Amino acid sequence: MKTLEVINSSENKTTISAEEIDKLQYLLNGSSICAEDANYDEARQIWNGMFDKRPAIIVRCANATDVMNAVRFAREHNLLVAVRGGAHNVAGLASYDDGLVIDLSQMRAVTVDPQTRTAKVEGGAQLGDIDRATQAYGLVVPIGVVSETGIGGLTLNGGVGWLRRKWGMTCDNLISVELVTAEGELITASKTENQDLFWALRGGGGNFGIVTAFEFELHPLGPEVMFCFTFYPDSKDIMQKFREYAQNQPEEVSALSFTGAVPEDENFPQEWWHQPFYAVAACYAGSAEEGERVLQPLREWGQPIVDFSDRLAFTEVQKVLDADYPKGRNYYWKSVYLKELSDETMDTLLALNRKAPSHHSTIDIWTMGGALSRVSPDESPLAPREAPYMIGIEANWDDPADSDRNITWVRECVTRLEKFSAPGNYLNFPGFLEEGDELIKDAYGKNLKRLAQVKQQYDPDNFFRLNQNIKPKKAMVVQK
Ligand SMILES: Cc1cc2nc3c(=O)[nH]c(=O)nc-3n(C[C@H](O)[C@H](O)[C@H](O)COP(=O)(O)OP(=O)(O)OC[C@H]3O[C@@H](n4cnc5c(N)ncnc54)[C@H](O)[C@@H]3O)c2cc1C
Repeated sequence: MKTLEVINSSENKTTISAEEIDKLQYLLNGSSICAEDANYDEARQIWNGMFDKRPAIIVRCANATDVMNAVRFAREHNLLVAVRGGAHNVAGLASYDDGLVIDLSQMRAVTVDPQTRTAKVEGGAQLGDIDRATQAYGLVVPIGVVSETGIGGLTLNGGVGWLRRKWGMTCDNLISVELVTAEGELITASKTENQDLFWALRGGGGNFGIVTAFEFELHPLGPEVMFCFTFYPDSKDIMQKFREYAQNQPEEVSALSFTGAVPEDENFPQEWWHQPFYAVAACYAGSAEEGERVLQPLREWGQPIVDFSDRLAFTEVQKVLDADYPKGRNYYWKSVYLKELSDETMDTLLALNRKAPSHHSTIDIWTMGGALSRVSPDESPLAPREAPYMIGIEANWDDPADSDRNITWVRECVTRLEKFSAPGNYLNFPGFLEEGDELIKDAYGKNLKRLAQVKQQYDPDNFFRLNQNIKPKKAMVVQK
């Protein structure tokens, strides 16, 4: 290899010699991958087909020391760094053209201690890795609903899934975090060590360092749970029934209902293909028997198109939606918190669904509340948390030529929903990096100031900036 062109932290091109790359490789247990390597194309791919990035160097870390050495190398050469966990960030944050990618995708080990009901999870693990390990002991961490999503990005910005109303966001279940700082040091943050940093990591995103290991509290559940998954024709009447149910549901129920178009799939009656639907999905975080009884009303609202509800292994529930999100398809998403699910909001959602340019797209209604809303701003920067619903708008399409139409549809949905919205924003779903900027104030409210001070303390040069970026800010010293 000759000299390599790389982008520096001021976003200008600079060069690195082959000798420097060799020195870095010598320090790694993992590997460094550049454009001339046979596995470069496989290594640079991320989940969202909208982003076809070509980083200059991918450092595939095998352990925390590799991460430390990669950060020190980037600091020494003043390089712009992207961090890759599960590579499922919708805005494609796991990579950057001509940048250096610190790739944790090989760091997926999960160790469970059934005595203390805790799990240690490496920073590049996928959600399925965690479910497989914890369910072997009949335990769970509340995580997201698609098994290949990365625990890194998901936890650092919150994390909502099928158990959220019972046990909160994923970040609410953190006990401690091991993290490589912007100086390349490995430190621990918990309620007793580096407390400010620990607070910031429970929702403040990838701003403060690279997490090499998360320690989570575990809860008993499974192996079998009741899962409701009923597809109805799209109808305001059924949405109203869903609202009524949601207002009285126990915390064990976390529901996700969504509109879409029936797929061309033999599991659905052919006469319904491409027709608009309204599906109700919910998991019961308790015994399967009790769950069957509590979720039964969701299945009795007239004649469904099809009802897939069943008692399932919890590991299966965690994969139910996987097939809908293949790697390489084009995706553009956004979300809005709702203050209520009014009749007018329902009319709007049903009409917007019928306008979706792609039949893979959905509009999702997540029920919130329960344990999610009991976390105080002192515990997590994600505040406010009072909204009873979150709407996710997902444009999912195959042909890149359709991108403009799909992006426009999502933006129109957000604009039309604005008047029904509640304060706050959820930063795990925005579709473009630059769109995060305007959402950050909403997401953190008054906590943004404290986050900026923690950023100043741990990353004053904004080394970790390819994320929903919080700018460092010194605390004001008031002199008498
Ligand atoms: C199919 C699909 C389903 C989803 N389902 C849910 C869901 O049910 N609930 C939910 O809440 N969200 C969900 N999301 C959103 C998801 O949480 C975010 O996209 C998240 O960013 C993915 O994390 P990742 O590690 O895969 O991201 P990556 O693309 O690998 O990384 C994104 C960013 O996260 C940060 N990051 C990742 N790992 C680390 C680390 N170890 N240390 C420091 N920073 C790190 C970095 O800032 C990086 O830029 C889903 C996304 C997809 C694509």
